Amino acid sequence: APAPPGLPACAQVDLGAITSNVAALKALAGNAEVMAVVKADAYGHGLLPSARAALRGGATWLGVAQLPEAVELRRAGIEAPLLSWLHVPGQDFVKAVNLGIDLGISTTWALDQVLAAATVSGQTARVHLKVDTGLGRNGAWDADLEALLATLASAQAKQAVEVVGLFSHFAYADAPQHPTVKAQQERFEGIVAQAERAGIRPQVRHLANSAATLTNPSAHYDLVRPGLSVYGLSPVPDLAAPEDFGLREAMRLVARLSSVKESPAGQGVSYGHAYTTSEDTRLGLVPMGYSDGVPRHATNVGPVQVGSRRYAVAGRVCMDQFVLDLGRDSTAKAGDEVVLFGVGVEGEPTAQDWAAAIDTINYELVTRVGARVPRVYL
Ligand code: PLP
Repeated sequence: APAPPGLPACAQVDLGAITSNVAALKALAGNAEVMAVVKADAYGHGLLPSARAALRGGATWLGVAQLPEAVELRRAGIEAPLLSWLHVPGQDFVKAVNLGIDLGISTTWALDQVLAAATVSGQTARVHLKVDTGLGRNGAWDADLEALLATLASAQAKQAVEVVGLFSHFAYADAPQHPTVKAQQERFEGIVAQAERAGIRPQVRHLANSAATLTNPSAHYDLVRPGLSVYGLSPVPDLAAPEDFGLREAMRLVARLSSVKESPAGQGVSYGHAYTTSEDTRLGLVPMGYSDGVPRHATNVGPVQVGSRRYAVAGRVCMDQFVLDLGRDSTAKAGDEVVLFGVGVEGEPTAQDWAAAIDTINYELVTRVGARVPRVYL
């Protein structure tokens, strides 16, 4: 569907695609439940509508990085289990416990603060122990594990906590044959056994992000945690396209031409004249810039579609705008649609095409779409 007229730019979000992507992931996950990861404003797609669309598709959990994201979901009336896993000291864990939000615990300070919050609220805190099995990022390292398990076991006996989950995250899920994948799984299973010996038997063991959900059934355990694939993007773009997994891109990013003007050959275009017209031509002005999430690195390379033709950004991407050299024969006019990325079936670029053009990952393209760009839901 074309974007609504009169908007300089918008991100059309196909909620039906999110729902059907989650249904496809759920079918692949077999007996494992699906936690749809909706952090970072649902990867730029809009937190609440995307979360609800994911639940309609069969997700039974929602996952976020930061506690305020989980609070927003709960306060909006979402009753599904919610997990948040990236904290700093002093966060409002009392609120989290009162709202029944599950907390990922990877440090002793966080466990201490959550236990204190459980005492204040008089309720049992729901936690998932997050262990570092080799990613080298967020997660408890071996040195802290014994102490964390011992504290959890005694707090569990007093009903101050319920250890709902035990989880970890891969370093190389997008390279399924990489030796660290198997090593992390073995480490994970070792820690599950260690936790059991300490009297802790979590309901859900979880390790798989999108790439592992799609390519590594042995990593599904009780719950999978896909993010990117929920939005229809491939986490392994060199190995497979979204449609190979039954996924469809949910976001279509479009702008409207603000003006089209004739320009002579030899005209420098935009700041620093990083582009110069090679012939008499027509220059189209697109009212979208780096503040809207169009990477400045897309200067002279970012692909866009106008009508049935593809162009590259001409010259520097500015804060609010960039230019296209439409060619002397172009009939494009102010108000015409400029498609930055979409599903790709109408010849338009995809977020993956943008990622390849500017040497980044598709994740970055969708999550960086600016707050000024309205999300229009289909
Ligand atoms: N689980 C955790 C702990 C994460 O940090 C993320 C995102 O980075 C995900 C799951 C979802 O990953 P992906 O978007 O690759 O599916």
